[in-house]
Amino acid sequence: MDETNQNQTEAQTKLNPFEMALKNFELAADLLGLDTEIRNQIRLPERELTVHFPVKMRDGKFKVFTGYRVQHSTARGPAKGGIRYHPDVTLDEVKALASWMTYKCATVNIPYGGAKGGVICNPKELNDFELEHMTRRYTSEISCIIGPTKDIPAPDVYTNAQTMAWMMDTYSMARGEYCPGVVTGKPLAIGGSKGRNEATARGCVFVIAEAAKHLQIPLKGARVAIQGFGNAGAISAQLIHDNYDAKVIAVSDSRGAVFCENGFDPHRAIEHKQRTGSVVGLAGTETIPGDAILTLDCDILIPAALENVITPCVANSVKAKIVAEAANGPTVPDADTVLDQKGVFVLPDILANAGGVTVSYFEWVQNNSGLYWTEDEVNARLKQIIVTAFEEVLLASQKYKVNMRRAAWARALDRVAEALKVRGIYP
Ligand code: GLU
Repeated sequence: MDETNQNQTEAQTKLNPFEMALKNFELAADLLGLDTEIRNQIRLPERELTVHFPVKMRDGKFKVFTGYRVQHSTARGPAKGGIRYHPDVTLDEVKALASWMTYKCATVNIPYGGAKGGVICNPKELNDFELEHMTRRYTSEISCIIGPTKDIPAPDVYTNAQTMAWMMDTYSMARGEYCPGVVTGKPLAIGGSKGRNEATARGCVFVIAEAAKHLQIPLKGARVAIQGFGNAGAISAQLIHDNYDAKVIAVSDSRGAVFCENGFDPHRAIEHKQRTGSVVGLAGTETIPGDAILTLDCDILIPAALENVITPCVANSVKAKIVAEAANGPTVPDADTVLDQKGVFVLPDILANAGGVTVSYFEWVQNNSGLYWTEDEVNARLKQIIVTAFEEVLLASQKYKVNMRRAAWARALDRVAEALKVRGIYP
């Protein structure tokens, strides 16, 4: 295939994240021999809500925003999933992300279905006043379908604990009662859980440790490259460096990547980013192009940014032994084949980043019971759930002789299908 064709093919593969999700769904359904009726019940989201709403901006003018909330499945429990603020949000992206939440919750066996929300906006261009008003009005627009026993939002790309506080307050004010369980990832002061902020990264590092044990790769001194330096990326860097003595040799953000052969202290990168807005320019590192991070010579690669970054062409040049997907959907399905051929051990997103939603579940349980746990308790329970999920997926991959992604999807899909079968069809 010439380069133009290859680029075209990659651009096409990149186009639709929901098509990507469907591809993994079909592969897992084939593996399970799932019948057509059940496939058809699970394939598409149960509910897709699009909202257009005005927000008063700081200059007194109104701007109309578009947002979505998609509930992919409520077969195993209330719908669950984050809210993303990004200029490139599309309905198909939110549909894909919602379906990934269904399979993620099923992979770690927590009693939720899957959902996702998003607002098309550039949060970097909005001030706090505008962000708050946009968040409150968006919450009001989707409040017809969310609720502590229906659909529970959480943070995702460019949303955080403060966003959740505004959402919780808006929902509670409208209902005239304190409803902490309507969102997770809240600040501690209003019912957030200890350990939630670090949970996605902590879960990711737990599965990396299990994979390294399985592959007999020592983590001490292992060279780690991380794409994305938000909540998941930055905290993964910190945990793998502090708790396992691994060597973080490169990190990147939307402005570029930094590299140092001998590794650097990720705490310095965090401090540098807080001060300057980017990791670029960190003392003692050289700046490399952002994309180069994916193909660096390293032992562990953690994509912790957005979807579709590992295309077949990129996969061809990946040198890592382990790829741990802290981001949702970073690998396009065709790239999996390439990674398999090269013997790269991929920890799929629905397992590798499930720590976040797992501690969201703990937060919701604490909100519902009114009894709050210590951080040690949260982390110990998280470890137990994540390690069990890893072992189950590894076992399934050995049983079916498939890669970890297909094994995780099959495991998850089996649980969703089972729930649908026993519930039957209403009315
Ligand atoms: N946005 C996170 C994810 O993609 C967390 C979702 C949640 O806690 O509900 O898994």
